[in-house]
Amino acid sequence: MNYRNGCALRFDLHTHPLEGSCITKPSQITRDSIGRIVKMMKKRGLDGIAITEHNDFSLGCEAAKYAEDFGVIILPGEEIDWGNHHILRISAFGKDYYILAHPRTPFEYTNQVKLDAVEFGSNRGKFPLAYQIAEERNIPLVQNSDAHLLCDLGLHTSFVDLEAYLRGEFRLIDVRELTKYHHCSIDSLYSNIYATQLGH
Ligand SMILES: [Zn+2]
Ligand SMILES: [Zn+2]
Repeated sequence: MNYRNGCALRFDLHTHPLEGSCITKPSQITRDSIGRIVKMMKKRGLDGIAITEHNDFSLGCEAAKYAEDFGVIILPGEEIDWGNHHILRISAFGKDYYILAHPRTPFEYTNQVKLDAVEFGSNRGKFPLAYQIAEERNIPLVQNSDAHLLCDLGLHTSFVDLEAYLRGEFRLIDVRELTKYHHCSIDSLYSNIYATQLGH
C-alpha cells in the first residue's frame, strides 16, 4: 500500500462546511455553495470528504448530489451525540460506517454501536485515549479536520484503500499501517504528505 503510487484516497471524514457557511437547511444548498467547498478540497489535495453536520444527515445528502458535477467524492454523514461522545456516521456504497470522534473519555457502548475507526487527532489537537480504544477494538486510527470553517478543511486527513473503493468497499486505512510501510513516524508521514501536496 503506497499513497504516493495512488493506492490510497485522501479523505477528510469529519467536516462542518455548511454550518460554517451558515447553511442550516438542504434547500439553502446551491451549486455555488458546493463549488466553494470543492475549491478548498482541491487546494488541500483531497479526493473526498464526508459532510458531518451535527445530528443532521439531510444536509450531507443534499450536498452529495453535486459531487459528480465537480468530479469529487462527497459522502453524506452526520455527527451524532451519543452520551458523552460524538460519533460520525458516514454513508458509503449504501452502508453506514461509524467513527468515534475526538474521544476524551473511555467509550463504553460496546453492544450498541460497532465502531469502524477512532480519531486520534484533528485540527483541535490529539486524543491519546484513541490508541487504547483502537487496540481494544482492533479498529483503525484516523485523523480528520473537524473543520467548522472552510479554510480549516483538509488540514488532517484519513486514508481509504483505493483498490477496495473501486470494488465498492469502503476500507479505512490505519495510520499505523502507513507508518509501518514507510518506516516513519506519524508526524513525518503527515509532513511528507503536505510537502508532496505543496509540490516540494
Ligand atoms: Zn464533536
Ligand atoms: Zn465535529
